[in-house]
Parts: sequence; C-alpha cells; structure tokens
Amino acid sequence: MGLMHQPTDLAAKQELSPDHPPSAAIAPATGSQPHIAVVGGSLTGPVLALLLLQAGLENVAVYEANPDLAAATGGVLSLEHTALDVLDRLDIPQHEYVKEGFETITQFRGYGPAGGRRRQRTYPGRFTTWTLLHRALAARLPAEVAHHGRRISAMTAEAGRPVLHFKDGDRASADLVAFCDGRSSVGRRLLDPARPLHYAGYVAHRGTATVRPADLHDFQRWEPCPGVQFNIAPVPGGADWIFFLNATAVQYTAWFGAPPRQRAFATAQHVSPAARAYVDQQAATHLPAPLADLVHSTAGRAAAPVLDIAPPTGMAWPIGDGYACLLGDALAPPRAHTARGAVNGIEQADGLAAALRQHIHHGADLTGALLGWRRRHLLTAVDTVRQGPVIGARLGLGTAS
Ligand SMILES: Cc1cc2nc3c(=O)[nH]c(=O)nc-3n(C[C@H](O)[C@H](O)[C@H](O)COP(=O)(O)OP(=O)(O)OC[C@H]3O[C@@H](n4cnc5c(N)ncnc54)[C@H](O)[C@@H]3O)c2cc1C
Repeated sequence: MGLMHQPTDLAAKQELSPDHPPSAAIAPATGSQPHIAVVGGSLTGPVLALLLLQAGLENVAVYEANPDLAAATGGVLSLEHTALDVLDRLDIPQHEYVKEGFETITQFRGYGPAGGRRRQRTYPGRFTTWTLLHRALAARLPAEVAHHGRRISAMTAEAGRPVLHFKDGDRASADLVAFCDGRSSVGRRLLDPARPLHYAGYVAHRGTATVRPADLHDFQRWEPCPGVQFNIAPVPGGADWIFFLNATAVQYTAWFGAPPRQRAFATAQHVSPAARAYVDQQAATHLPAPLADLVHSTAGRAAAPVLDIAPPTGMAWPIGDGYACLLGDALAPPRAHTARGAVNGIEQADGLAAALRQHIHHGADLTGALLGWRRRHLLTAVDTVRQGPVIGARLGLGTAS
C-alpha cells in the first residue's frame, strides 16, 4: 500500500470506477464495525452522522473546524419535501426548525404599485433557517461523536486506510471519509483539484432585521429590474433579507477586505461602511420605501460572493482499501437562486447512508453500492450547478457565462 503524504499525490487518484476490484469490504463479517469520519458539522455532516448512528454504526466521528459553531447564525434555507422527509425519519419534529408554516413564494416584477404585479406560487417544501436546523441537528449528535475545533488539512493512505491530518498535527484513521466541509472544501481540493471556484460577478448582501413588515407572510422576491433581486422572508424575531447586486471582484475586495474566493463568507466584522452605504443606496433606488427603510435600519449585515464551479464528475474515490466521498457544498456549491444547497446535501447524505446500510447489514459490495449512490445523485448535482448561471443571466446578475 503506497503512502501518500501530499495532497498532490491524492490528486492523482482516479475516482471510483466500475473497474475497481469488487468486495472492498469495510465491514468485516464479524468483529469490529467500520470507522466513518465525517468532515464538517454544519448541516450535511450532522444529517449523515445521525443517519449512520440510526443505522447502528457505532464508530462515527464528526470533525468540525469551527470551535464554536453553535454560536454561529445563518439565514433562510428552503427544504424540499425529500429533505423534510429525511428529517422526519431522524425523529426531528418539523415544528422545531420550521417556525413559519408558509408554503408560498410571492414575486413582484418591475416598479410601481405592488398589487398588480404580484404573482404567487407554491413551493414544494418549507422554509427554515440555518440557525434553527443546525441547532436541531447538533442537539441530537452525541457529545462523543462531535469533535469541534478540529480542522482537517490533509489526507493520506496508510496501511490501506485513509488517514486524516488535523491542522494541529493530530491524525485519525477511518475506513470511509465523508467530506461535508462546504464550499471551500479541503476534501474537494484533495480529491478533485481541477474544479476551483470562480467568482460569478455578484454578491448576496444579507441582513437580519429585528422587525418584520406587517404584510410579510411568506417568502417575497422583488425583481424591479435586471441586475437587482431582493428576497425577504419572516424568521423568528424579525425578517431575513438577501439583496443580490452586481459587483466586480475589485469592489468586493474593497468592501469586504479580501477577494471573493478567499472570503467566501463575509461576516459582520468584514462588512465595511462603504458596503453598507452602497446596499442602502441601492435599496432606496429600487425597493418600495418601507423595504428600503427596513434595509437601512438593519444592523446585522453579512455577505457572500456568488461563486460557480464546474459540474462534478465523481463523488467517491478509493483511498487505499477505504474510500473518501464529497457531499453537499463540498461536492458542488450551487447558486442560492437554485434553492438546492441544503436539499442536495441532505439527499446525498440519505443516499450514502442507504448504501452503507446495504453494505453493513446485507453484505452488499461497497464499491457497487457507492457507484449506485453516485449514479443516483450526481446528475442532480450537475443539473443544479448548471442551473445557477442560467437563472443569474435571466436576472441580469453576474458576468455572462
Ligand atoms: C454558520 C453558517 C451559516 C450559513 N448560513 C446560510 C444562509 O443564511 N443561507 C444559505 O443559503 N446558506 C447558509 N450556509 C451554507 C449552507 O449551510 C450550505 O450552503 C448548504 O446547506 C450545504 O451545507 P453543508 O453542510 O454541505 O456545507 P456548509 O454549511 O458550508 O458546512 C461546512 C462545514 O464544514 C466546516 N469545515 C470547513 N472546512 C473544514 C475543515 N478543513 N475541517 C473541518 N471542518 C471544516 C465548516 O466550518 C462548516 O461548518 C451557512 C453555513 C454556515 C456554516
């Protein structure tokens, strides 16, 4: 078994293929259970870990870089019925993470009185927030499974097994590594390095308002003109808004202190007064006065550059006699307009858990099970990343692609 020390060595790995020798069992017929390492403790990672624990796997570890992720907050996320069903199966009551029961999106195009240009459609799911969903998941992860402040920096194969290297010099081996480490994934950099992120030419400016407009009862989408989209939805304690506006990489860097790919999330402390003033001015120009006032009065600001990536071609790689997989944003971060980020990650976690259950409980060949998992989920991931630029172009957002 070759020892692979550098990420570049791993990069030479071929993704899992049907030519891989069959029956690479990580679950011995008798004896100890396989070790599953989950990298990332936000949404996809905890869903996967909880499904594996529910399946009776005992050696599951979640490694999360952030030492205090519980203190982090995030805004509105949409969950389609497939994702809600996975959470049902984890016995997480929906009312714990869906606080506003609406199922509609109301859209306003153009300028002028809102009444005549409102269109409403049904969304096939419900809305939550990152904060609510993460909290519901994290509360169910046993303390001995969740390891915080553990940043992975590399992976090697030793004695036939994947070995994770922590930034602090520690190491941990596993039989299967599931990278759920988000859009700047170290797993993707190691396993699939030819797919860097590209700045799409516009920014999602975000605000958490502590007041809620009286007429805000569902997810509202305002599209007054090309190059401007404003979304707002009720959340506990107020309203969450996202204002999509074009910006060059130079503007982004000036506003948020680092280039888009380097600062994939700009938190409150990175939002400069200039960024704030620009957003306020755009709100005053394009939004009805009550919404412009709401934006202006929102103290809690954040931002994220919209980033694109080439569609994935693989999801699982053999590492020694073990495996490593990419899921969720680590596999393919979609643009927010697709509303598929959390859904894709949860569906992929559910599918991977199903593949592992067949292997552990029924002796299914693991290579075959992982290839089946890839076949079922890859096309959706590809489709989602392709949709992003199409929707963006329709809205006049971003650079043509
Ligand atoms: C605090 C927070 C707030 C968010 N708010 C929103 C929001 O308001 N709207 C929205 O659309 N999306 C939001 N997201 C992103 C959203 O969760 C994802 O787009 C999507 O749901 C897929 O989730 P994920 O678990 O695959 O990836 P992510 O949610 O991005 O999670 C990746 C996790 O991996 C961890 N990680 C990264 N690198 C390493 C490493 N080397 N070693 C160990 N751990 C690592 C990160 O700290 C993070 O917790 C937020 C994410 C976070 C972390």
